[in-house]
This record gives sequence, structure tokens and C-alpha cells, in this order.
Amino acid sequence: MSETIQAIRGMNDVLPDEAPVWEFFEDTVRAWLQRYGYRQIRLPIVEKTELFVRSIGEVTDIVEKEMYTFTDRLNGESLTLRPEGTAACVRAALQHNLLYGGGQRLWYAGPMFRHERPQKGRYRQFHQVGVEALGYAGPDVDAEHMIMTARLWRDLGLDDVVLELNSLGSAEARTRYRARLVQYFERHAADLDEDSKRRMTTNPLRVLDSKNPAMQPIVEAAPQLLDDLDTESATHFDDVRRLLGHAGVPYRINPRLVRGLDYYNRTVFEWVTTRLGAQGTVCAGGRYDGLVTQIGGKAAPACGFAMGVERLIALVADSGRRIDAVPPDVYVVWSGNGTEAHAWKTAEALRDRGGRVVLHAGGGSFKSQMKRADASGAVYAVVIGEDEVASGDISIKPLREEASQQRLGVEAFADRYLKKNSGGI
Ligand code: ATP
Ligand code: MG
Repeated sequence: MSETIQAIRGMNDVLPDEAPVWEFFEDTVRAWLQRYGYRQIRLPIVEKTELFVRSIGEVTDIVEKEMYTFTDRLNGESLTLRPEGTAACVRAALQHNLLYGGGQRLWYAGPMFRHERPQKGRYRQFHQVGVEALGYAGPDVDAEHMIMTARLWRDLGLDDVVLELNSLGSAEARTRYRARLVQYFERHAADLDEDSKRRMTTNPLRVLDSKNPAMQPIVEAAPQLLDDLDTESATHFDDVRRLLGHAGVPYRINPRLVRGLDYYNRTVFEWVTTRLGAQGTVCAGGRYDGLVTQIGGKAAPACGFAMGVERLIALVADSGRRIDAVPPDVYVVWSGNGTEAHAWKTAEALRDRGGRVVLHAGGGSFKSQMKRADASGAVYAVVIGEDEVASGDISIKPLREEASQQRLGVEAFADRYLKKNSGGI
């Protein structure tokens, strides 16, 4: 026998035992987004490489080293597995003229791909839920995004996620700040690591985003962008803070917070936890007024965020909340001459009534089938043998409580037991 093939490193299976937490997460997220009037947009997983280079920026971790890029065999075009969702979301909005009639509140979810070193909370295929408000100048949607995420943490039962907030100001303010930052880094050039040295000239703000612990003291003592804010950005920031205050959402100003991607301006925020070790950011976003023109559209302001689903799932799984798979209502066991048609019809009839029904497959004795019924977690075993075929009814054996077996018609069983027993009926 040949060796079994393993999944690609950093690309995970979600096994059936883990799926209920994912389903809980997805159901909660969907209901939450509906409550804020966001509409879903579904986007391709592969896009032209140019889209990401143009939007995310050349001097970023993602574009420099994390993208899964390949050449289309047929036409030689360079394509990339999406590393994030904002670029494609904006691309689609422009391509389909969605911004024509005003702003759009959109969301998307799905797998993203980055060639990173796999570790806890950091994978090569991971999932994001992204939210984008396109065509809104804020500060109201900026605040809405943070207020709504605060609600999501409550809906998910998470209580130790903290909001960090900063403003990157206008492009002009950043240019001034950039000059001050370069001067500062030049004074400390001897202590900078290789990445930072390179970025010091190409994109000095990115040095502040360094994950290298050795860089932290230099980053800590760097000049702050908040001191260089232009008046409009300062007012915008005050407004965001006032709205957060009205909503009672606490936050911490973090003047070091810059986002890893190029396209942000003004508001930037992250939700962080200390419960996940080094990979503590579960949600990150902010304003990106320049991106739409960068992708080729007529200028439109925008704000958005994305959350890391694996990290949030880990928090939910860790929170002590019990999330069980929904068990079947009924497991149908059947054996004997002429029982096949009755068993199949019974299973379908119970499903017609909304029941969750597993019909035993693979034959075997009643005894071995009953073992399967028990292991399935079903509330009832429905037993069909030659007697039941003769009388046209079914036998019911409760599996989760001490109670004797009884004989009933299919309809009577559904009326009497399924309705009160399962949410699904
Ligand atoms: P980090 O600083 O952790 O690399 P990032 O700035 O690259 O994060 P974003 O591009 O802002 O991350 O993505 C938003 C969120 O997606 C992150 O806050 C995180 O929760 C999640 N995320 C990003 N990369 C990964 C990954 N490789 N594996 C799992 N989750 C990820
Ligand atoms: Mg990253």
C-alpha cells in the first residue's frame, strides 16, 4: 500500500467534532450582520496578482513574501490565491457599479491564503469574515464597526477582547510624520534588523508593525503619529471617540498601532486578547479612503475590518461554553423479510414532518444496529421488523431515558413525540 497523502502544512481540516463550534460561529455572525443591515457579497478565491500588488502595497509582508502566486498555464497571466478580501470586494463594487446609488454596507467570508510559518493561530489557509462600508466618509461608520464588533463578542460569549484605537491621519500628515520617523530610525540604524533597515526607506511606518521582539524598544520610543494629526483627522478621531463613548464601548488608544497594509488612513483599530499567546489580534481594520482610486475607481471613502475566524473559534472553544452537535431525533433500525420498503418509507415520512432521521445502512442484526442507534446520539430508535410490516406501524424505543418500547403509527409517533422533542419540528 502506498503512503497516505497528508494535507498541506498550515492548511487544516475541520473535523466533524469541531464543526458545531464553526456552525455556531457562522450562525451567530450571520444573524449579527443582518441586525446591522450588512449584505453578503461572494467573491472569487483567485484574482489577478496585480489587484493585490496595487491595493495592499509592494512593501508589505503579504506582497513581499506571503502570496500564493502562480502563472495561468493557458495565457501566462499571473494569478494569486486571495490573501485578504478587501481588494476583491472593492474590485467587485467598482466592476458592477455598486457605488452608483450611494454607500454599500457589505460583508464576505471565506478562506484566505498566506505563505506564513504555521503556528498556533497562524495558518496558510485561514478564514476571515470581512465587513466593508464603501462610500461612507465617517466617522459614524468607523464607530459603527467597532460598536458592532463589541456586540459580536457578547453574542459569542467572549468577554476578554480589548479594543485598541489609533488614527493614521491624512496622507499629508503621514508624509510629515514619515520624515520625522526616518530621521529617528537613522539615528538608531545600528539596532535595526534587516527587514526594518530595508523598510526604513521604502515604508518606515511598517517598521512600527515589526513582530521582532528585539525591535520593540525602538518602536516604543519612536515619535508618535498622533502628535502630527491634521485638523480634519483630529476632529474625525474625536468624533469616533465620542460615538464610542455614547455606546459605552471602552477602548485603549495605542499610538503604535499601524496596520500591516498600505491602504489605511485615519481610523485604525484592532481587537486583541491575551488568551491566544503571540497571535492575539482577532479582528483588525480601519478607514481606507484612498483604496478605491488606487484600484481604479472614482474616489470613494471607505472603512472596514476583517476578523480571524480560527482565532475566534479558539476563543469560543476555550470559553467553557458547551456547543454540542444537534443529535438525530430518530435512528431507524430494520431487519427481516419485506422490511425494506416500510423502513425507507417511514424514514422519509418522518423527514416530511421535519424529523432528523438516520436510516441504518449496511445491514446487520438488530443488536448491532441498536448499538449504532445508541452511538448516533438519537433520541429514539424506530424499530422495523416483520411484525411492524404486518401491522403497518412502528416500534419506538426511547434511547435517552428508561422507558419501555411501544407500538404506534408513523403519524401518531410524529405528532406525539417529534414535535415536543426536537427544535427542528
Ligand atoms: P498579523 O499581524 O497577525 O500577521 P495581519 O495584520 O497580517 O495579522 P490582517 O491582514 O489585518 O492581519 O487580517 C485580519 C485578521 O485575520 C488578523 O487580525 C488575524 O486575526 C487574522 N489572520 C491574519 N493572518 C492570519 C493567519 N495566517 N492565520 C490565521 N489568522 C490570520
Ligand atoms: Mg500578517
